[in-house]
Amino acid sequence: MNIIYGSEIALDIKKELKEKVNLLKGKRLPKLCVILVGNNPASLSYVRGKEKGISEVGMLSEVIRLDESISEANLIEKIKFINSDDSVDGILVQMPLPKHINENRVIENIDPSKDVDGLHPYNIGKLYLKEEGLFPCTPLGIIEMLKRRDIEISGKNAVVIGRSKLVGNPISKMLLDENATVTTCHSRTKNLSEVCKNADILVVAIGREKFVNKNFVKEGAVVIDVGINRNSEGKLVGDVDFDDVKDIASYITPVPKGVGPMTIAMLLSNTYKAYMKREEVNG
Ligand code: NAP
Repeated sequence: MNIIYGSEIALDIKKELKEKVNLLKGKRLPKLCVILVGNNPASLSYVRGKEKGISEVGMLSEVIRLDESISEANLIEKIKFINSDDSVDGILVQMPLPKHINENRVIENIDPSKDVDGLHPYNIGKLYLKEEGLFPCTPLGIIEMLKRRDIEISGKNAVVIGRSKLVGNPISKMLLDENATVTTCHSRTKNLSEVCKNADILVVAIGREKFVNKNFVKEGAVVIDVGINRNSEGKLVGDVDFDDVKDIASYITPVPKGVGPMTIAMLLSNTYKAYMKREEVNG
């Protein structure tokens, strides 16, 4: 069994990005603008992680904090203002938003060329058309992990548990584009453990503590655990029962230090990509 530490791969990616940013000496620097509505403690901690990552690679960030009670119209107004700010390359609205705000309408108002979370319908369309665009960070990070650990994807049976727009659906599409044969499972899938037992690559993105045990995993499978759950002791645990599965899997990602750091690394990479594209377009 090999443990794939996303935290180590993320360090390599950040080092490479820092070198690229260093080459921009004298030029405008890439900038990410994060919009945080309210005081959700988990969101605050995610935003801090993003800010830290951005500063580590020498890029700029700005966090705009808005009151929980802001109206949807005022939030959209704010986004439109940032869309037109030429010093900003990436815009990220930290989810979840308060219940009175429609998340989809908010995302649709982000300039797609600054949509570094890859959630705008334009970018989702680009992903499905297999064209250039900005794509969601977590699935991008999973593909990058597999590639950087020389794990063959082409021709493999990949099973994804979860079909969210953030993780399950886009990782299924990305694995398909890497020529895997992909099965996407969800809460209505019958005989889930049997379906998963066919997987050479098993990606688990459910949001249920230690849901996947050795009964779901084929000998030698690659197991990618996307889940982030807090257990009764307040510790972070994945959707996979790591101790139960680790001796069957050929590769497995831990939680924490697995997919999470890769998500941030790909956000930095998307911000740099958006910057380069805008510089190219604006000359
Ligand atoms: P989500 O939107 O809640 O989607 C969960 C998916 O799991 C749904 O498609 C659901 O099926 C499926 N599911 C739920 N119970 C199931 C069951 N018993 N059997 C089979 N499928 C089941 O969650 P998400 O946003 O994709 O996130 C999933 C997990 O990943 C969460 O723990 C989240 O915190 C974590 N996450 C981690 C990162 C990271 O950077 N590491 C990033 C994003 C998310 P239906 O569609 O049928 O309801």
